[in-house]
Amino acid sequence: MRAAVVTGFQAPLEVRDVEVASPGPGQVLVKIEASGLCHTDIHAARGDWPVKPKLPLIPGHEGVGRIVQLGDGVIDLAVGDRVALPWLAQACGRCRYCIAGSETYCIAPKYMGYTIDGGYAEYTIGYASHVVRVPDGVSSVDAAPITCAGVTTFAALKSASPQPAETVMVVGVGGLGHLGLQYGKVFGARTIAVDVEDAKLDLARELGADEVVDARGDQIGRLAALGGADVALVTVPSPAAMQAAHACLNPRGRLVLVGLPADNTLRIPVFETVLRGIQVMGSLVGTRNDLADCFALHAAGRTRVITETRPLEAVNECFEEVLAGKVPARLVFDLAV
Ligand code: ZN
Ligand code: ZN
Repeated sequence: MRAAVVTGFQAPLEVRDVEVASPGPGQVLVKIEASGLCHTDIHAARGDWPVKPKLPLIPGHEGVGRIVQLGDGVIDLAVGDRVALPWLAQACGRCRYCIAGSETYCIAPKYMGYTIDGGYAEYTIGYASHVVRVPDGVSSVDAAPITCAGVTTFAALKSASPQPAETVMVVGVGGLGHLGLQYGKVFGARTIAVDVEDAKLDLARELGADEVVDARGDQIGRLAALGGADVALVTVPSPAAMQAAHACLNPRGRLVLVGLPADNTLRIPVFETVLRGIQVMGSLVGTRNDLADCFALHAAGRTRVITETRPLEAVNECFEEVLAGKVPARLVFDLAV
């Protein structure tokens, strides 16, 4: 099969022929139809983070396709079922976090496209317990970005509990932000989109943002004039953007972080945090239930996914495009042929 392989953290990915693995007990083999490019894949391929991925590595945690083979003991899925292969490839199911329904914080997780091979391939192995069915009303190309970008922002907002009369500010109208903005409306809040590109601000308006703010100008002043934010969801992996978002929060505001910058340090003022009762929260992807909810919302017409498809062979050029901030929202590798 064709797969995009990371052979070293300084080397470009190689699209080459790789042997198709057989599903072991509890696993399924999925023929990938669409596979989204998440910024995390770039960090994985470059070994940017303190905990390194396996090598060689097939990245990708937005793979969607049909099951073509079942491993021993898989009883609740069938050949032909269409499923998504999210970041949380498997959780233990026994630790206190799994039992409490917070499986993304499992103490013994497997991560798709990081600790095991992911979706930048014609075939990928998934765990039957953790793949998530894709309903008929959701195309594979739309399902791919929802599998990480969608569920990450949905779960992040859920943990910040925006109330109907509150304002959600979404920083960055990219793969995550364009969906986060729409979930802000799903949760019933007023939304403000923040970005530094005219095209992204236009997209935000088109997707229903109540207000848009150009962060090249006086972001904090503009936000104050618009009544401030009660929830700030920062989707760009930039400590400076997180710091600016903190300064836009009203008393009792919640700053929710989902992006993982290569520079791991965020400086925020203690004085304002205490006096305004601000919460700073992290949120890691979402659970299987969260992803099923995101698919259901999309099937019900509550969200729009903005994508451009590319062949897997273009993977290295796609990484450059994403790093240059030149893509509309999400690039998806089309493997359906
Ligand atoms: Zn991701
Ligand atoms: Zn666990």
